[in-house]
Amino acid sequence: MPAGGGKMTPRQLLANVRDIMAGRGSAQKRLDQVVSTIAGGLGAEVCSVYVRRAGDVLELFATEGLRSSAVHQTRLRVGEGLIGVIAARARPLALADAQHHPAFAFRPETGEEVYHSLMGVPILRDGRIIGVVAVQNRSERRYRGEEIETLQTVAMILAELIAGGSLIALDELPPAEGLTGRPQQVPAVRLSPGVGIGIAVLGQLKHDIHNLVAEDPEVERSRLRAAFTDMHGALDALFQASDHGLDGEHREILESYRMIAEDAGWFARIQEAIDGGLTAEAAVMKVHNDIRARLRTANPYLQERIHDFQDLADRLLQHLTGADGSVGDIVLPENAVLIARSLGPAQLLELDRSRLAAVVLEEGTATAHVAIIARALNIPMVGQARDIFGQIVAGDPVIVDAEHGNVFVRPGDTVRQAFMESAHERERQIASYRALQTLPAETLDGVEVRLNINAGLRIDLAQLEETGAEGVGLYRTELLFLSQTRFPDVAAQQALYADILDKAEGRPVVFRTVDVGGDKILPYLDTSRGDNPAMGWRAIRMCLDRPAILRQQLRALIRAAAGRELRLMFPMVADVAEFDSARALLDLEMKRENDRTGRLPASLSVGAMLEVPSLMFQLDMLLKKVQFVSVGSNDLLQFLFASDRANPGLSTRYDSLSPAMIRLLGEVAQRCEKAGTSLSLCGEMAGNPLDAMVLVGLGYRDLSMAPSSIGPVKAMIRSLNLGGLRRYIEVLYDSPEHSLREKLRDFARDHHIAI
Ligand code: PEP
Ligand code: MG
Repeated sequence: MPAGGGKMTPRQLLANVRDIMAGRGSAQKRLDQVVSTIAGGLGAEVCSVYVRRAGDVLELFATEGLRSSAVHQTRLRVGEGLIGVIAARARPLALADAQHHPAFAFRPETGEEVYHSLMGVPILRDGRIIGVVAVQNRSERRYRGEEIETLQTVAMILAELIAGGSLIALDELPPAEGLTGRPQQVPAVRLSPGVGIGIAVLGQLKHDIHNLVAEDPEVERSRLRAAFTDMHGALDALFQASDHGLDGEHREILESYRMIAEDAGWFARIQEAIDGGLTAEAAVMKVHNDIRARLRTANPYLQERIHDFQDLADRLLQHLTGADGSVGDIVLPENAVLIARSLGPAQLLELDRSRLAAVVLEEGTATAHVAIIARALNIPMVGQARDIFGQIVAGDPVIVDAEHGNVFVRPGDTVRQAFMESAHERERQIASYRALQTLPAETLDGVEVRLNINAGLRIDLAQLEETGAEGVGLYRTELLFLSQTRFPDVAAQQALYADILDKAEGRPVVFRTVDVGGDKILPYLDTSRGDNPAMGWRAIRMCLDRPAILRQQLRALIRAAAGRELRLMFPMVADVAEFDSARALLDLEMKRENDRTGRLPASLSVGAMLEVPSLMFQLDMLLKKVQFVSVGSNDLLQFLFASDRANPGLSTRYDSLSPAMIRLLGEVAQRCEKAGTSLSLCGEMAGNPLDAMVLVGLGYRDLSMAPSSIGPVKAMIRSLNLGGLRRYIEVLYDSPEHSLREKLRDFARDHHIAI
């Protein structure tokens, strides 16, 4: 008979576990009591808790029923044995005949050979697996659904205690394995250049939930209902406060957002968790953890939904706990290094940039919009810092070397000293680029290239002067939309666009009409429908379906540019008909403004972005209709190779300097030249000196890039002899290789081109 008495109701079991946690005695002692209580409560002979340690190892921390000498000795890798499989899949496992499961790994030191059945669940915290709790029975037992549910609920309590350090204090971990105090180096991928030195701030939303176990489920159910009502009320208010005049569209927008919020399955699962004995907020957390863990192992497109659920779970918790949960509310110390799992572009804009030294993301790719904004703001940022949360605690000193893609956690003095010196070196380099500011971007053989900046924030315009750029080749207007709580009305947009034109002081500015959707999510417009938002309802598609949004923007642009030059382009145009429809709306607005005030822009130049490969097959027709084409190489690359630009796992798989991409870009340049239509390129390629070298070789004479890239790209152009490069690229055209990057890099080195 296991310790802890006979089988109990789930609520009794939870209450007992809670009482043990609140009781006295060492952490290990309490954990020992907990496992024996769980075993007894669930009528199992064995209950074991494994805790995840650095290096993806699951260590047996406590057991009732297995040999006590195995505690702290038995270790399994994530993925190894049934316990490892539960952790790897982040899913419960219930097996009547566990020993014949292919993943069963026999550990003689535990004495578990006599147990036939096993039920285990992951211990989850913030969507991460921090351990596993499992029960075992001698007989072939079929565990029921509600028993799994009960064990999950207990796991939730264990999670809070492990993460809070009250069950197993961090300094109880054996020193040889402990993280605290030891320097760590975490490899990552550069998303925005620079070096940041500062203090770690963990950017996960933290809702402090003190009370996990419900006294009275009925009270919790009514709290949940009230929170749902409050949340819907707040969402209503958010939309009703909007006075953007999109008549009839409010409801539609609201309804689509609510589709997720009102998802009956979601609500029902939270209620079930309450029935299992949790408080309302603990139940929200539990269901959210399950969803996160499940989506984590789902296909990458589905993972995008995490943001929606995260947002709604945060809102709900906010109503339940009365706490605010926005990333923007994280109070940053001086020189903060924000460590976050992922970050949306709007969230980055919400942070106090004057205190932000760098950002480290566990996910993130170079062409995701948050990275583009970080480059615009000169915030060093790295992504794909795997398991960074397992290596760092809040307050740790950190150096983010975004130049080389490294994060140094708790660096030693020598490393710190070396970085201080390299920071000075970098300043010297920036000064040398500044010296180029007034010099032309001209090759050694006299070919001039126009260098423009990509912008989207007001402060970006100051960079025109600092970099000596010719103008703004891409103004991402949606960044204004991202940082609002509702659509800005015509007057607000007009004021902003006029301000941008004023600040540009006569230099050309190409405004791109709103491009939301994909990874640019507006809280007030649900563009996340479908499993694949980047290929979904976004940009010009959304604007043509909601013409009021586009018409208002065009009206604001026309008014802002009255008497001045207006250049604008439409994003994600997939065929000529889409361009024609957008152009027709522009003509309508021009006529309307003419009839109303007669004050029109002094000149109008309209272009299309080439980002969707289908447009290639109508390019000649398109070139007759537009004043210019701007290649959006970020999206073009992702659609050409069917390779999600925001998926970290694919970010290095297909190269912008692949034969296919180079050929396509060359073809575009030739056809534009033949048609006499202006051509530019405004994707991230333009800002990488080696890629830019190839573009110039292919005939591109107008490039638009992050302001910080102007100096390095100009230095490259001024060291380039175009004649030799053209011939070399022609030779490479027929190469069967996956990427031509190495060859082109060698060429640049051999010819002393500054890349
Ligand atoms: C692009 O796709 O290359 C581009 C410039 O647009 P965005 O990065 O904003 O999608
Ligand atoms: Mg694009």
